[in-house]
Amino acid sequence: MAQPEKQLPAFVLNASEYEELLQRFVRYAKVHTSSREDSETFPSTPWQWDLLRLLKQELLDMKLSEVELDEKYGYLYATLPATVEGAPTIGLIAHVDTYPSTPGENVKPQVLRNYDGKEIVLPGDPRQVITVDDTPQLKEWIGHTVITADGTTLLGADDKAGVAEIMTCVDWLIRHPEVPHGKIRVAFTPDEEIGIGSKYFDVPKFGAVCAYTVDGSLLGEIEVETFSGDSATVTVTGYDIHPGLAKGKMKNAVRAAADFIGRLPSERLPEATEKREPYLHPLAISGETGKVVVKFILRAFSEPELKAMGDYVRKAAEAAQRDWPGVTFEVDIKESYRNMKVVLDKHPRVVNLAKDAVRLAGIEAVEGYIRGGTDGSALSFKGLPTPNIFTGAVNYHGFKECVSLEWMAKSCETLLHLAHLWGKERA
Ligand SMILES: [Zn+2]
Repeated sequence: MAQPEKQLPAFVLNASEYEELLQRFVRYAKVHTSSREDSETFPSTPWQWDLLRLLKQELLDMKLSEVELDEKYGYLYATLPATVEGAPTIGLIAHVDTYPSTPGENVKPQVLRNYDGKEIVLPGDPRQVITVDDTPQLKEWIGHTVITADGTTLLGADDKAGVAEIMTCVDWLIRHPEVPHGKIRVAFTPDEEIGIGSKYFDVPKFGAVCAYTVDGSLLGEIEVETFSGDSATVTVTGYDIHPGLAKGKMKNAVRAAADFIGRLPSERLPEATEKREPYLHPLAISGETGKVVVKFILRAFSEPELKAMGDYVRKAAEAAQRDWPGVTFEVDIKESYRNMKVVLDKHPRVVNLAKDAVRLAGIEAVEGYIRGGTDGSALSFKGLPTPNIFTGAVNYHGFKECVSLEWMAKSCETLLHLAHLWGKERA
């Protein structure tokens, strides 16, 4: 006869757990963890270690097992042991670094309790005002506890909200051993914001059947799609000669390249596209009379659209070629990364349980997509299917970044349900 399921607690944070979640988030937000684009080291900046070490200590204090900080690359791993046998191991992942191009040092989190719905003037720079126009979520946050930066830095809710939610989730599960769940692996990673956060992530050692990055934004969103990305390099080769002797001989690659760029379809550029639209982006140019190199990124959600972006570049080069005899235009397109949906479609359980968990947390599950890449997309292709779960924070990367504690708690409760749902699965 099957054992009746033990009486389970409601997967809802109580008042003191809300406060713990808040204090955790504020504590992490204050630690400077900006990553840096042009670094030779990994992690890209030494101060990311400060938060990694703090988290390591907190995980040890919580008595998680296999707490291990990879001293070479800055990946922090830990394990919450299973309370039932036979359930698959899942992973929860968040990144510790913050976006490099907005100041991230001396973050002073502002906590507005029982938020009144009015525009929020940030005290460190009163020109920075969060309004309903730029942040429509404010209307839904009336009565919530809202956290902002002071207007001189980003807040770093991307992704310290995710870090705090995962920490609160495992802490809660430790205090509720009666909840059946499988082994849960936790990882905190550096350098996500510069696109290389999964570079040295040890997927075999992590040993999970799937993982969830907690790095999305809006309430209820589960992101299962990213762009597919290619890069294109167009090399324009002319003929250089002393300009005093150039008549009839010089073939100026600078002018030819400018003509080529002018032939690109303006409606396909990033500044003209949104939502599911693909784009092509000439992002860098360098060279001189004899030779110019133009670099592109190409982005689309589907392969045919991505191919079409490459074809636009080729067609513009061919058209310019016809009008510039003596100049050559070479187009070289290389694959960068692929839409993680290709992988996730093969693992419907991974996405379906996440959506079920969102619904069990009492909110609507919204399948979203990211106009960019995520660590989850790289991890998915490394063999660890990894959709992205919302954190409840908005205005990522900017001075007006902010988060609702109530939405953070919903993210955390989603993770609790997710752990429990996976605890009922068998491999
Ligand atoms: Zn992030």
